[in-house]
Amino acid sequence: MTDPSRIDLPRRRLITAVGAGMALSILSPFARSSGVGQPFALGVASGDPLPDGFVIWTRLVPENQPLSKPVAVRWSVASDAAMTRIVRSGQVQADARLAHSVHVEVTGLQAARPYWYRFEALGEQSAIGRAITAPVQMAAALNMGFVSCSHWERGYFSAYRHLAAENPDLVFFLGDYIYENSYPASSGKVVRAHAIPEARDLDGYRNRYTQYKRDPDLQALHAAAPCVVTWDDHEVQNDYANRWSQDAGVDPAAFLKRRAAAYQAFYEHMPLRRSSLPHGPDMRVYRRLEWGPLARIHVLDGRQYRTEQPCVLPDGRHGGHVATCAALSDPQRTMLGWEQEKWLHDGLRQSRAGWNIVAQDLLMAPLDQQDPHTHEWGHWTDGWDGYEATRDRVLANVQQSGARNPVFFGGDIHSFWTTDLKVGAEVVATEFVGTSVTSDGPPYEAFKAVLPRNPHVRFFDSRQRGYVSVSVDARRMETRFQALSDCRDPAATVSTLKRFVVEDGRPGAQEG
Ligand code: FE
Ligand code: CA
Repeated sequence: MTDPSRIDLPRRRLITAVGAGMALSILSPFARSSGVGQPFALGVASGDPLPDGFVIWTRLVPENQPLSKPVAVRWSVASDAAMTRIVRSGQVQADARLAHSVHVEVTGLQAARPYWYRFEALGEQSAIGRAITAPVQMAAALNMGFVSCSHWERGYFSAYRHLAAENPDLVFFLGDYIYENSYPASSGKVVRAHAIPEARDLDGYRNRYTQYKRDPDLQALHAAAPCVVTWDDHEVQNDYANRWSQDAGVDPAAFLKRRAAAYQAFYEHMPLRRSSLPHGPDMRVYRRLEWGPLARIHVLDGRQYRTEQPCVLPDGRHGGHVATCAALSDPQRTMLGWEQEKWLHDGLRQSRAGWNIVAQDLLMAPLDQQDPHTHEWGHWTDGWDGYEATRDRVLANVQQSGARNPVFFGGDIHSFWTTDLKVGAEVVATEFVGTSVTSDGPPYEAFKAVLPRNPHVRFFDSRQRGYVSVSVDARRMETRFQALSDCRDPAATVSTLKRFVVEDGRPGAQEG
């Protein structure tokens, strides 16, 4: 660890450094306005904190002319919010191959403290973002938020603005950060329109991120705190699985080309490390983060490695409501892929952390539900319910691993859920699922009606949009379901719908 006194330069040296910096900036190409216009319109972001650094991200999109040549980008990290005490800086090239995005893995910082960062290129400066390094020692607390499912067309990202105002240490994006699909204007659902109808290729997916990233609430959240991102289906296509499109008859080879484009655009727009650089249609997103002895965070990829959804529907599609079929519980099928399953099992077994947070995209608890048309009981097979054997293996391992305080975070289902995750009669883990930022929730009355068949569900509400905030310390985790007044109102207010507590050593949430 660096001695803090060495971070803050003595006053005289600081004055000299500022003077030299100013002289340099007059000569530097970074100081000359290039005439192409402000290139930082997509904001900045940071992610994946380690004890000695984090990733910082931006992407150059000059307003007056598209870039083709490589552009030098200077980055700096400071120990103060005004960016007067620069502790690390450097220069990288942004080039067209990755859409002039910049991913810098900053190292050499002190553990467990905030830093501020900024970029300069083409004579312009970016906004200043705030990041935090992970602790090595026991942290007093970890304050988090998690969000999912922000369909641009269904409303404004007030959830992001309100979460940013909470000043969390860490924000989880659990999937459906963009939606590839659009609503027809005639649907009456379009609060603000997508720029193009559907994203299908690299240009299309880039167009989506370029549109979403211009949102001021989204930029505010990224600038406020480092994030940890994973994806769900809409980053590629609704209900896709691995190399299979949701649409019947699509050649998997053709679908993999689409997936490659979607994954590349995801990488280009997220503060991810080089270890996530895509290789064709493959991209490593599952990974672990450590928050000292307090928490180990296991981030899952629920889409890339799956077996196709079981039980083909009458229209030839996979993924939907089915009563039952043999494949539903087939142990040869996997949702996470065998490697990721083993990785998760090893990571739980070897964990010494006080809390084991599994950040993933879906509702994990089983849910007996009724087909909305036939009222036949069954399961929704695109989620964990289509992969019963994987869920059984994961939960059995959670139980046997001895991993302390396993808690699952999820999204996708556009509603708030608190559930007990069980092996037989024993509660082995706690689950919290967050509602959508804007996307439509499932029908409240219909879901409420099936809850008596699902007594492990401790709470459900699909009527609000919002996010989840979580504070954890050695003794307890407090979770707040944060609900917006109206996501169609750009000035929506927020209130706490429900509060739960998980006590150390006692799986299962209690109302608090
Ligand atoms: Fe969604
Ligand atoms: Ca989804």
